[in-house]
Amino acid sequence: SAPTAGADGTVPTHCPYCALQCGMGLRPDPGTPAGLRIVERTDFPVNRGALCGKGRTAPEVLASRVRLTEPLVRRSPGGPLEPAGWDEALDRVVEGLTATRRRYGADAVGVFGGGGLTNEKAYTLGKFARLVLGTSQIDYNGRFCMSSAAAAGTRAFGVDRGLPFPLADIPRTGCVILVGSNLVETMPPALRYLTELKENGGSLIVVDPRRTRTVEHADLHLAPRPGTDLALALGLLHLVIAGGWVDEEYIAGRTTGWPEARAAAMAHWPELVERITGVPLPAMREAVERFRTAEHAMVLTARGPEQQAKGTETVGAWINLALATGRPGRPLSGYGCLTGQGNGQGGREHGQKADQLPGYRMLADADARAHVAGVWGVDPDSLPGPGRSAYELLDALGRDTPDGVRSLLLLASNPVVSAPRAAHVEERMRALDFLVVCDVVLSESAELADVVLPVTQWAEETGTMTNLEGRVILRRKAAEPPTGCRSDLRVMHDLAARMGWEKGFPTDPEEVFEELRRASAGGKADYSGITYRRIIEEDGVFWPCPDTGAEVVPGTGTGGEGSGEADGEEPVGGWEDDPSNDHSADPADRPAAGTPDGPAPHPGTPRMFLDRFATPDGRARFVPVQHRPSAEEPDADYPLFLTTGRVQAQYQSGAQTRRVAELNAAAPGPFVQVHPRLAERLGVAEGEPLAVTSRRGRAVAPARITPDIRPDTVFMPFHWPGAGRANTLTNPALDPTSRMPEFKVCAVRVEPARPA
Ligand code: SF4
Repeated sequence: SAPTAGADGTVPTHCPYCALQCGMGLRPDPGTPAGLRIVERTDFPVNRGALCGKGRTAPEVLASRVRLTEPLVRRSPGGPLEPAGWDEALDRVVEGLTATRRRYGADAVGVFGGGGLTNEKAYTLGKFARLVLGTSQIDYNGRFCMSSAAAAGTRAFGVDRGLPFPLADIPRTGCVILVGSNLVETMPPALRYLTELKENGGSLIVVDPRRTRTVEHADLHLAPRPGTDLALALGLLHLVIAGGWVDEEYIAGRTTGWPEARAAAMAHWPELVERITGVPLPAMREAVERFRTAEHAMVLTARGPEQQAKGTETVGAWINLALATGRPGRPLSGYGCLTGQGNGQGGREHGQKADQLPGYRMLADADARAHVAGVWGVDPDSLPGPGRSAYELLDALGRDTPDGVRSLLLLASNPVVSAPRAAHVEERMRALDFLVVCDVVLSESAELADVVLPVTQWAEETGTMTNLEGRVILRRKAAEPPTGCRSDLRVMHDLAARMGWEKGFPTDPEEVFEELRRASAGGKADYSGITYRRIIEEDGVFWPCPDTGAEVVPGTGTGGEGSGEADGEEPVGGWEDDPSNDHSADPADRPAAGTPDGPAPHPGTPRMFLDRFATPDGRARFVPVQHRPSAEEPDADYPLFLTTGRVQAQYQSGAQTRRVAELNAAAPGPFVQVHPRLAERLGVAEGEPLAVTSRRGRAVAPARITPDIRPDTVFMPFHWPGAGRANTLTNPALDPTSRMPEFKVCAVRVEPARPA
């Protein structure tokens, strides 16, 4: 029922990659390989037509010559993957998974999903795992992405929505502390929010061990040793307290737990923090001065603080700084996480996480189980309990133990490249009795499979995504898929039907969304008031958006709670006069639709927490945190830090972007970023191969010499497999709360890798 095209055939839709979910139009063009060309979509407020190279070249992946267009099966152990018909492939999947269940029990079957799946697919995958397979062993690659911010945000505010305010608020605030985000490279169209911030007189403080391209836009760069940003946040909070700049009224009225958090911060003397972090005290003082004097201010975190074995506490320390200065829940202020994957937000809300059910309900909660079981039409007691987190699940693959996972269904993920301690994970995957992978290309993980199912991708199907602002948007079908491909929803439908579930797994995404609305109703991520029609008419709706029973008629509403109109906020002087800063086209600033007579539909919630936080008592919670060393610190054998990350032209494990010629030309392979002093000590010149060794393995890649990195640290991007695979080196030490591995910090030895 979703409209598909305008008069000229252009379908308004969104990029297949990151969490910005940039708007774009796809117009039929027989002269292009994919039969589609991108047209600018300036009406979508997030990117106003701008796209990065990944988005611009996305149609190439549709027509890639390495695109999978028929199922592949491995007919004998160790034999090759061979083309097969869908019936044979699906029968083999059912046979393989059923054999494992019969022999070892339901929990011997694992399911691994991805933060790129649409909301409908993530929802269906969780339901499929728990009902059809009856397994508790499901998790997804988002665990490796923003789970620490999710855990810390939930602890502090009662619910986790990456940004609890729209991106459009960034230019209107006074100061942003951006912690561990290289947004200029990872989501380039978002740079405009930072440049507008500066044009409006605001200041930008970037915390990053490297001088990234984002740092080039900063007023102040704090470059802590990897793994010490928790201490840095405590040091800044100490300075705020010592200066008497704490917002006592806000703390008394809107928070709990301050005395303990205050005591923890006071134990971190700035001089001590300077020694721990390497950040000079004057720079810390300047950061505090900029942040505390701004009328409105924000702290935004990304993978830097989050991908640590103390990620939840690290994010918590930055949240404490924001709370102590009275920022969260105030207009144009607060704390937010810049989620990375395309549906990193929605992907964590609808039940593909090990411990969660749709609507951000907890699987261990009896009321949550009863509600979701009611929607699914099953006995709540039949639902499995919480399972293992992503790395723990991967580590259990193929193990000949009572709790080993013998078969795996893998969607939208490529752990052979993206998981920590990747050689070990690859070994575990090879040890599986049975592996089935749904993908669009033969990824490094799919190469190991017993059955590979070729699935449709972004422009070939319809489905909702929830971007980093909590804005639920609709990706629309613009092209027919290759005849041999089926959607993930169809795959789950077909498998469920073969396993005795004739009903309950629709292939129509809107039908799935209607069920998702009911399943999420009353939950923390409440989508019940959102419909495909509303998303189309309003160009996105922010959750939470409960169903009020109202029929939606666009353009007649008057706004309401959470609309951004009811907060009494005066516009920041001068900003509204600048036409380039006109965000009125953004639904975040638009009154809600409604009928003149009946109940108004809920307008959605662009800005959360303005009146109360989502905790039982409505107050935000300070959590006392202490600095502690990373799980692995440099020593005599491994004297340097390794930190990992991304480059602009590649996305995640590179499964799609490595297949695009322009992107490959821009970023053809891995490298090791080293400081000139370290390069000199090693006797290595630009481009010469360096061997990087950690306790988990060895990777070799060319040296890239730059003063933009600390001399005690090397950096590798993680998008590539093979000899230069960065995740061969990374440490799977897990955060005790979020179960996030420590991608951002481990100890390594670096030496020239010249042939003998
Ligand atoms: Fe796509 Fe992200 Fe690039 Fe936008 S910034 S075009 S969403 S990859």
